[in-house]
Amino acid sequence: MRIDLHTHSNVSDGTEAPGAVMAAARAAGLDAVALTDHDSTAGWGEAAEAARGMGLVFVPGMEVSCRTVDGISVHLLSYLHDPAHPGLLAEIAKSRSARVSRAERMVERLAEDYPISWEDVQEQVAPGATIGRPHIADALVAAGVVPTRSAAFANILTGRSRYFVAHYAPDPAEAVELIRAAGGVPVFAHPEASGRGRVVGEKTYHEMIDAGLAGLEIDHRDNPEAGRTYLRRLASEHSLLVTGSSDYHGTGKPNTLGEFTTDPAVLEKIGELATGTRIVTP
Ligand code: AMP
Ligand code: ZN
Ligand code: FE
Ligand code: FE
Repeated sequence: MRIDLHTHSNVSDGTEAPGAVMAAARAAGLDAVALTDHDSTAGWGEAAEAARGMGLVFVPGMEVSCRTVDGISVHLLSYLHDPAHPGLLAEIAKSRSARVSRAERMVERLAEDYPISWEDVQEQVAPGATIGRPHIADALVAAGVVPTRSAAFANILTGRSRYFVAHYAPDPAEAVELIRAAGGVPVFAHPEASGRGRVVGEKTYHEMIDAGLAGLEIDHRDNPEAGRTYLRRLASEHSLLVTGSSDYHGTGKPNTLGEFTTDPAVLEKIGELATGTRIVTP
């Protein structure tokens, strides 16, 4: 069994529709795949139907944007939660709407120096999708400012850029509690990804663990080796599940499906812990 538990479709900032992500996963030789769009579960239906038709196991998921009181960005994967849970729904709706005004403010700042308008950015976002910096990157690519998304993120769109604006996102420990309340299984995504900004300290890990964190995504290209060693110790001390995944974004990122995978016993455990919704088997 080859299992990849972290992918994005154009329901957020991936470049392919949910069904196309499933087809790509099948073509990459995967047996089970999770769709984990940012702050949205709108792709679950299409992905489940496509996966069933190709004999692929589908794991419904989501990547919840969070922010600590110190302003550190945390991504939290949620597996198998009830997509209609009112508390969790309200929280992600709040983040999604904050993302829109934040993107508008970033575009206002960018427009002072680059040929880019709010309309140009909206053209890059699929209807109803969760907007993010990658869509702004796509508009910069379309305008000929940069050759690729990655080039845009190398300086213009980093968290240290003068064009950067933060957006509202829930506290990570509170999000862990909400995901549990919705019957989901919370896994800390790429926890030591220092390349994308500051990472959390021991205190935040412990707050999240006390709130009910179930696992750590250790095998992810953005976690440096030293960070993985720290995470493995943390996982064994606190009996946390360990996952590995690609964080595939279609052509929007170099990450390839199945570049890191998760042990079948871990997926089985995730299925046992969840009460919100079920793994979709062919
Ligand atoms: P945002 O959620 O708007 O803050 O944007 C963060 C998103 O941008 C994450 O989902 C990342 O996967 C994506 N991202 C970060 N760095 C890059 C990069 N170098 N190339 C493409 N996408 C990136
Ligand atoms: Zn993304
Ligand atoms: Fe992430
Ligand atoms: Fe992701």
